[in-house]
Amino acid sequence: MLDKTGITSLGHLINGEIVDRAGTDGIEVRDPSTGEVFARLPRGGAKEVDRAVEAARAAYEGAWGAMTATERGRCLTRLGVLITENIDDLADLECRDTGKPMKQARNDIVATARYFEYYGSSADKLHGETIPYAKGTTVMALRVPHGVTGHIIPWNYPAQIYGRSVGGALAAGNACVVKPAEDACLTPLRISELALEAGIPAGALNIVCGLGIEAGAALAGHTGINHISFTGSPQTGTAVAKAAADNQIPVTLELGGKSPQVIFEDADLDEALPVIVNAIVQNAGQTCAAGSRVLIQKSIYDKVMAELAKRFSALETGAGCDDLDCGPIISAKQLDRVKSLVDAAIEAGANVVARAGMAGNAPEGGYFYPPLLLDGAAHESRLAQDEVFGPVLAAFPFEDEADAIRLANGTPYGLTASVWTRDGGRQMRCAHAIEAGQVFINNYGAGGGIELPFGGMKKSGYGREKAFEGMVSFTTIKTVVMKHG
Ligand code: NAD
Repeated sequence: MLDKTGITSLGHLINGEIVDRAGTDGIEVRDPSTGEVFARLPRGGAKEVDRAVEAARAAYEGAWGAMTATERGRCLTRLGVLITENIDDLADLECRDTGKPMKQARNDIVATARYFEYYGSSADKLHGETIPYAKGTTVMALRVPHGVTGHIIPWNYPAQIYGRSVGGALAAGNACVVKPAEDACLTPLRISELALEAGIPAGALNIVCGLGIEAGAALAGHTGINHISFTGSPQTGTAVAKAAADNQIPVTLELGGKSPQVIFEDADLDEALPVIVNAIVQNAGQTCAAGSRVLIQKSIYDKVMAELAKRFSALETGAGCDDLDCGPIISAKQLDRVKSLVDAAIEAGANVVARAGMAGNAPEGGYFYPPLLLDGAAHESRLAQDEVFGPVLAAFPFEDEADAIRLANGTPYGLTASVWTRDGGRQMRCAHAIEAGQVFINNYGAGGGIELPFGGMKKSGYGREKAFEGMVSFTTIKTVVMKHG
């Protein structure tokens, strides 16, 4: 709904209704490509979270809980179809809300539809087990939903992360309360309305908008939820896990990474280099699985850097709707963070090897940071160890396989990695030795793949989303022991 100034006024979605539309004091939603406000969100808090949890509990104990797994699956599959039918509008919304280039926004919506289709067709394939036990008994380990699940979603992939998280939870039979990010949440709101059209009953899927410290904290600490799934920064993830610990509920944490892309001297560079550039430029580097470190064997270091520099210099940055190689950073605050991390690295001795260009027609007020290739940073520096969350690739040379593995594992994170080599033995040795939730050999998906279990080791978090495994995470086991003689 548009207000008098032409700004969209959004509401929460609680119990199947859009409620509490934002007034002029609502949270401003800016288009990162222009810096202009185009929507407002209501600032929900404990009261709204209470209402949403209550609605979810009623749906879980009512209409949603009464559906068979097949019926639930049909609803989710229908939602996937509706998302596909609305792809133009949803891609426009995602592009405007996040600033990502249009073709990527479109790919994200395609992936979101796929999550619902995947989980729709998985819902009735979730089996328990029987367990051999004492004579005269039959033991069943039933897979049952947690009940009401909370989902805290970040701004970098609003549609996809929402799809993977609520898709798995709903398929398993849970009712959901979602707190999307205040910086980008328009597609989760719109898709949740489509969910009603798809037949998902009111209350099974609720969205409370608001700030992290208010609505997010209220959801994480709510005594009425039975599981919480969080994707975002390690600091907030720790706060969410502590709140969940107070209520003794399980948590899934996906906290980002510092993913190494390892190039050995026998790699097929024509295959590797475009993928390595894309792994950091995609979504302006604001990807938990961004390939933010490239580790290059010394014997080919200069050659690879020269080639990477050529590719970086040819990239263009501009508004999402202009669909160039790189869009803006999500907000002025995040842009400042990226700038200050890079400036500190350069001051400490890192070299700028190449910087991409800006499109001539890029809007003045956009939060742009053209992709940057750096080297010479110390391995212990923040640039090498922390998420920059911008299109910044840091290069490091290595001597041999042991050195490559030492560097690859030398950060607190362990989310994803890629290894580029034609040597079969080395491929498998690296796959085993690198501490990461996903290791790609001679390809890279930046966390992609609806069918692939995804999540971290070390400080990248714990628990898995995506794939069948993601749906299983939203269940627990109830053991039934029948004595029948
Ligand atoms: P964040 O972790 O603060 O926000 C993620 C989500 O958590 C948002 O929905 C936010 O509203 C919510 N939140 C914030 N504080 C909360 C609290 N106390 N309790 C419950 N929920 C809360 O991330 P950010 O501040 O938007 O970004 C900061 C950094 O986090 C980025 O620079 C990046 O390094 C990292 N990040 C990682 C991912 C990822 O996919 N791994 C996504 C977004 C941000």
